[in-house]
Amino acid sequence: MDKETILSWLKEEDPKRLEKLWQEADKVRARCVGDEVHLRGLIEISNYCINRCYYCGINRDIRTLARYRMTEEEIMAVVREIVKRGYGTVVLQSGEDPGIKRTWMSELIRRIKGETPLAVTLSLGERNVGDFAAWRKAGADRYLLKFETSNRYLYRYLHPPRQGEEIDRLILLEELSSLGYEVGSGIMVGLPGQTYEDLYEDLSIFRRLDLDMIGIGPFIPHPKTPLGCHPDWLSRSEVPNTDLMTCKVIALTRLLCPMANIPSTTALATVNPASGRILGLERGANVIMPNFTPIKYRKLYDIYPRPQETAPGGEDPLSIILSLGRRPGKGPGNRRRQIF
Ligand code: SAH
Repeated sequence: MDKETILSWLKEEDPKRLEKLWQEADKVRARCVGDEVHLRGLIEISNYCINRCYYCGINRDIRTLARYRMTEEEIMAVVREIVKRGYGTVVLQSGEDPGIKRTWMSELIRRIKGETPLAVTLSLGERNVGDFAAWRKAGADRYLLKFETSNRYLYRYLHPPRQGEEIDRLILLEELSSLGYEVGSGIMVGLPGQTYEDLYEDLSIFRRLDLDMIGIGPFIPHPKTPLGCHPDWLSRSEVPNTDLMTCKVIALTRLLCPMANIPSTTALATVNPASGRILGLERGANVIMPNFTPIKYRKLYDIYPRPQETAPGGEDPLSIILSLGRRPGKGPGNRRRQIF
């Protein structure tokens, strides 16, 4: 697909023509990664953060937010629940929390790998290579770090460098890859200031980095953040932060990166609670990441406003998967390298 074709799909509004994009993406998904939908149990282990990202509701400037860090025992209890549900992967996510020490995390990873068959995905933000190497050695399988937008100016603005140090997430992704992690990244769709050209660049980077996992969600304004306080910024955005726009990017990602694992994200399900999860799965996605964070912590992991689910795992992912004529994935659900 050339640049003009990609840009015209991104701008396409006609539902009849878009139907062709959805069908093509679903065909490629079925042929390249099959009908299995992999389930990853998400645990948000800490909401401490030293970053000041303008989009994110747990950034360090939000002083009124109570902060928590789960203990090893609390995390292990949830890990056992995820195993009991038959899932193949646990994802440990947090703010950028220096209180998560290298050795503590290594021990936790060793324990999970020693006591369960789960693949371990980390999403702990920007850490140094020593941490990445130690955690890989302890058995971590995958690392998720979104580059959020390829527009360097926009990124620098939305994600102010901490203590003057500029961290290039694309370089971190290369380091993670050379340490042997499966590497995931992704973007937000509809950020104020983002253009269609930027989305084209984002898609080109997905392809160039040969990412194993690609997460795409709509930007959701949070009223306590700098971006959420200025609704007029949103109305001036070129790219809408809608479920439809997000689905176009998911579908194009499937066509450009046919073998990648692509989640139907919680952010997509948040902007369209009735059918966001399903639309993602029908338009290129093959992964769901149900939230297992204990209820008392979940409302504090307030990255964007989202409905409070009451049960661990939330909506019943199994019935969604079966209703689509698909089946839950077995085992860890690694990235495929070959069409089967
Ligand atoms: N500290 C880690 C994890 C952050 S939360 C990191 O920075 O990698 C995980 C993802 O949530 C982020 O990468 C971002 O893409 C998404 N996110 C944060 N705030 C958001 C918002 N307001 N709307 C939509 N997605 C958001």
